[in-house]
Amino acid sequence: MSKLEYTPVEEIPKIHADLYRGFRTGKTKSIEYRKDQLLRLAYLLQDNKKRFEDALFADLGRPHPESVLLELDPLIGDIKEAYGSVKKWSATEKVRFSPKWFPMGPAIRKEPKGVALIIAPFNYPVLLLLGPFASAIAAGCAAVIKPSELTPATSALMGELVSKHLDQDVYRLVNGAIPETTKLLELPWNHILYTGNGRVAKLVSHAAAEHLTPLTLELGGKSAVIIDPKCDLPTAAKRILWGKVANAGQICLAPDYVLVPRQFQDTFVAALQRAFNEFFPVDPLKAPEGTMAHVISDAHVQRLKRLLDATRGTIAIGGQVDAARRFIVPTVVKDVKTDDALMSEEIFGPILPVLPVDSVDEAIEIVNARDHPLALYVFTTDAKFKAKVFDNTQSGAAIANEVVIHLGVDHLPFGGIGPSGSGYTTGKFGFDTFTHLRATIDNPSWVDKLVMSARYPPYDRGAIQK
Ligand code: NAD
Repeated sequence: MSKLEYTPVEEIPKIHADLYRGFRTGKTKSIEYRKDQLLRLAYLLQDNKKRFEDALFADLGRPHPESVLLELDPLIGDIKEAYGSVKKWSATEKVRFSPKWFPMGPAIRKEPKGVALIIAPFNYPVLLLLGPFASAIAAGCAAVIKPSELTPATSALMGELVSKHLDQDVYRLVNGAIPETTKLLELPWNHILYTGNGRVAKLVSHAAAEHLTPLTLELGGKSAVIIDPKCDLPTAAKRILWGKVANAGQICLAPDYVLVPRQFQDTFVAALQRAFNEFFPVDPLKAPEGTMAHVISDAHVQRLKRLLDATRGTIAIGGQVDAARRFIVPTVVKDVKTDDALMSEEIFGPILPVLPVDSVDEAIEIVNARDHPLALYVFTTDAKFKAKVFDNTQSGAAIANEVVIHLGVDHLPFGGIGPSGSGYTTGKFGFDTFTHLRATIDNPSWVDKLVMSARYPPYDRGAIQK
């Protein structure tokens, strides 16, 4: 397994200068070049899939099939889409016909913004680094990519492979933690894309403001689930619990808490218990490694344990914490109130608080009293119920009868709103993030003989009014 070595801080300004020089050669602009680099990126993943699975297992204890299904295959799919579409996406676009302006041939040139900085978090360390990277390559940008230091095996592997297979004149991977990221952020970039938590996003925003650098923020928050008793309960329970089991709930889109009618709470929790029994025929504490992912670090285990110790709700399922193995059994806490410790921050772990409410209006009020979440989930078979929830709330995505997987659905934008993020990634939306829409016209001289002569002084009012 590759060993993680941080990029020396003093090398970072040179890397920055090298990439600007590389970008100015213009090589990243050719479509053939972009496709070649995208192909290399796809093969880098395809040919080393097993190494990536092993690295993700080493860092997160994540089951191999989960890494393939939720991280590696969707990423390869996204790169393939960029490869197949880059020519179309980059084509200069003629604007809608207008009799007044058409002689000038108004059009929009799709141009790379320049040199991008992409900073990724630990939870899907490959997808969230190399996904936006593929978008930047497709857009014709040069890029520095900075993985999380919390996934040393995966970050080292990406460092090794990116330096071996991609053009180092214009693409560089910088490994490191706070000092290295701080140095990167001191420098001017043409775009920064940061994925991670809101606290660091504020530091990134301040740094970007110094240089007026455009910024995309992919953040998190507390994604709520609203349950209507008129739903397919076994499926709802399975999907919601899965959202807390996959990657041990360390998913920006994980269902964070559930709002359920008071009289329906026990029925719902019993359905979660049945789903739990199905997922874990063997007690997850005693199950072999690779059954379910671990919590990323001791600090996060302690944070989650503190939240569990402080809750005034009732632990209905799970609750066991094996701190030595950084493993937490999927846990459901019922009778949670809005001022509970579990409602004080994004959980980002395998703990699911259930809050009983007296009406859908109260559920909507609870959601609206908080920051707009990255996703809002509703489980119902009643179209009116769904419409009421979606029409009276705001969130990054509005999802019915499913959790999390909309991130992988082709042709949908992915992004938050307000504190859950700004800007979009994936597919064409990711390409657009790194693309400048450069307005262009070419006005022939004869146009002056028609309307445009009126702009030149001395002004003749009569001529303008005609
Ligand atoms: P993390 O701790 O790995 O940090 C993310 C990045 O920020 C890392 O590259 C790290 O080096 C850098 N960083 C950390 N502290 C810094 C500092 N003081 N100065 C500069 N850089 C610093 O991961 P995290 O932030 O804990 O990730 C989890 C969060 O990310 C959750 O809130 C989750 O919801 C969110 N998230 C959002 C998305 C999305 O696409 N919207 C995806 C995944 C995770």
